[in-house]
Amino acid sequence: MSKESYIRDAEESILHTYNRFQVVLDHGEGVYLYDTDGKEYLDFAAGIAVQAFGYHNREYCEALKAQVDKLMHTSNLYYNEPIINAAKRALKASRMDRIFFTNSGTEAIEGAIKAAKKYAYTRDGHAGHEIIAMNHSFHGRSLGALSVTGNAHYQEPFEPLLPGVRFAEFNQLDSVKALINEKTCAIILETVQGEGGIYPATKEFLEGVRALCDEHDILLILDEIQCGMGRTGEMFAWQHYGVKPDIMTSAKALGCGVPVGAFFLTERVAEKSLAPGDHGTTYGGNPFVGAAVDKVLEMMERDDITGHVKEIAPYLEQKLDGLVAKYDFLTARRGMGLMQGVVCEKPVGQVAAKALEKGLIVITAGSDVLRFVPPLIIGKEHVDEMAAKLDAVLAEL
Ligand SMILES: *Cc1c(COP(=O)(O)O)cnc(C)c1O
Repeated sequence: MSKESYIRDAEESILHTYNRFQVVLDHGEGVYLYDTDGKEYLDFAAGIAVQAFGYHNREYCEALKAQVDKLMHTSNLYYNEPIINAAKRALKASRMDRIFFTNSGTEAIEGAIKAAKKYAYTRDGHAGHEIIAMNHSFHGRSLGALSVTGNAHYQEPFEPLLPGVRFAEFNQLDSVKALINEKTCAIILETVQGEGGIYPATKEFLEGVRALCDEHDILLILDEIQCGMGRTGEMFAWQHYGVKPDIMTSAKALGCGVPVGAFFLTERVAEKSLAPGDHGTTYGGNPFVGAAVDKVLEMMERDDITGHVKEIAPYLEQKLDGLVAKYDFLTARRGMGLMQGVVCEKPVGQVAAKALEKGLIVITAGSDVLRFVPPLIIGKEHVDEMAAKLDAVLAEL
């Protein structure tokens, strides 16, 4: 079938909630994707920070195939071995104490919000608690996650959302402090804001928020769905700061293509939080996703993926800085590790579309940022190829 007929069929059947790039992707190998016409693309988006090991990683694929032949799903009424192994590895990597597996990042956020509310309910003996979230944040599309997503455009049609959510300015500690009252049970933020435009938290801000939380027995929820799993050069971005969350969320690269998320708790929170009957999921943490998460974490640890990110990221930064210096309409670069953004004063959607034509996949963030979240296994040669292709695109603008 031709590309045009695939796209026509898709638009006639699948609800139009995305303005998709005009390409039908077929298969992948390493850091390259191939469309149904056989055209090759260098991938600097990784399925939105998901494919940490790129495509068709033999060891990962074999582990999944073996689990498919053994046992895919049973339900959370029973124990299963792969998810126990995955949980142990995830807790070791995060230095958290308890984990709950979900099917997506959004559901991990839902669970984190419920866990925080239940903690405050147990402590105070009543409900009615409030949450502080950040402007320009992104935590997901379900009604709970949307309620803490600081984007009026995403929220408006679906109001009223969860009551008792107040929005502060990211990286402005006073704006957080001003919103705290006796009802506040949690502060939720992304350690590095992703969709909002690639903004890393400053050290002063994160330390300040942690101190406020400690002072008022408020739970710090860090959303590591995009910035976690080795992307910034530590397994979780907060590990750069010496600040530990009470609750953390993960997803995206946690399964490297298998849909899975998780929320993590410290023991102190877990003790007073969700108990039998409070929360559940049919699929969450089944043997199949367990095998995926277990293998991903095994490979990340064994191959020292964070060491590799620390080594390659400065080279990516240097190449992006070179482009920022060369083009007037590129005004800044910011980010951490292999989560980088370049501020662009020309329409970023157009840049991404032109890049695709030239065989380079990049995505955007916010309204004016080009986002670079490549597979974590990229080498210098891939950075060079990306920079050359992007340079050619920018030169034509
Ligand atoms: C992608 C993302 C989510 C939502 O995850 P889904 O798996 O799409 O539900 C939440 N928070 C952050 C920071 C994200 O990047």
